[in-house]
Amino acid sequence: MIKKASGSKIAIIGTGFVGTTSAYTILIRGLTSQIVLIDADRKRAEGEAMDLNHGLPFAEPVEIWAGDYSDCENADIVLITVGGARKGGQSRLELAAENFEIMNQVVPRITEYNQKCILLVVTNPVDAMTYAALKLSDFPARKVIGSGTVLDTARLRYVLGEYLKVDTRNVHAYIIGEHGDSEVPVWSLANVAGIRLKDYCPLCKIPYNKNFFDELFLKVRNAGREIIERKGRTNYGVGLSIAKIVESIIRNENSILTVSCYLENYYGVSDVCLSVPTVVNRDGVREIIPFPLDEKEKEAFQRSADIVKKITKSLGL
Ligand code: NAD
Repeated sequence: MIKKASGSKIAIIGTGFVGTTSAYTILIRGLTSQIVLIDADRKRAEGEAMDLNHGLPFAEPVEIWAGDYSDCENADIVLITVGGARKGGQSRLELAAENFEIMNQVVPRITEYNQKCILLVVTNPVDAMTYAALKLSDFPARKVIGSGTVLDTARLRYVLGEYLKVDTRNVHAYIIGEHGDSEVPVWSLANVAGIRLKDYCPLCKIPYNKNFFDELFLKVRNAGREIIERKGRTNYGVGLSIAKIVESIIRNENSILTVSCYLENYYGVSDVCLSVPTVVNRDGVREIIPFPLDEKEKEAFQRSADIVKKITKSLGL
């Protein structure tokens, strides 16, 4: 087996749709030399490992296997994608309680074998589960990251790029706060190629109407629900978002990503995990960027923090 020079290892706990799509995305982007798949359903993990391995003649060399928690040893990143999404009629608090129980089983098993990795949490509600992973692991805050609003931010950039008819990568707009209904679009700083959105539109003869953009945001906020209504789950957008976070860690990129991380006095918000623009590198969170929010955005962000805190309090954290 020829191994990649980077010599990095990623353990994925939970080999459902999100875990395996992430594995596939990480594989085809050649981000690591080892991927271990761990799931309560061992057979499922084995089947997924076999299936992924059969694509290796068309990808970069990587060792993939179904393993157990002892295989978390020496992993650079442990990705947590266990547990379900909200089922019809289930409240957010009920989902949090259900997935917190799973986190309680999983996190101590990881830390039994590895206390140096970065924990990357995707399980929903992701901000509360990131906070839970932090408390359960007792890791330094910089080592515990949630996928947060990286996906929501990508969705916003996608719809803006479509509307403005430009490459989404030239659109710089961020969603911060909770990955959920109280998330906050930072319109005051949204820009295209360095030009503020509200200046870009008239310059390029595109109608600029604040209400229109607010409605566009609502579509972004509801996008997960819309997809789940149609196909039962979301996996590709989130898989690519996870691969980006993984890339920034493994390649020490110092990318600015709206990951969920532990905050201390961010616009008065403390002791909660929430998404804000964060520099991510091989140490995890290198730095949190104090975004110059306007007053309304600050208030909306603080409201979002209160909502997430209610969830973590309900879990006794
Ligand atoms: P899924 O049902 O397809 O997979 C979940 C996997 O977890 C299953 O294979 C199951 O066997 C495993 N599992 C359950 N309990 C376990 C335990 N105690 N130990 C080990 N494995 C266990 O679900 P999915 O669609 O892959 O979604 C996974 C999670 O990711 C959900 O909570 C979902 O809401 C979340 N999600 C988050 C985002 C985001 O942006 N944060 C986006 C999409 C999905």
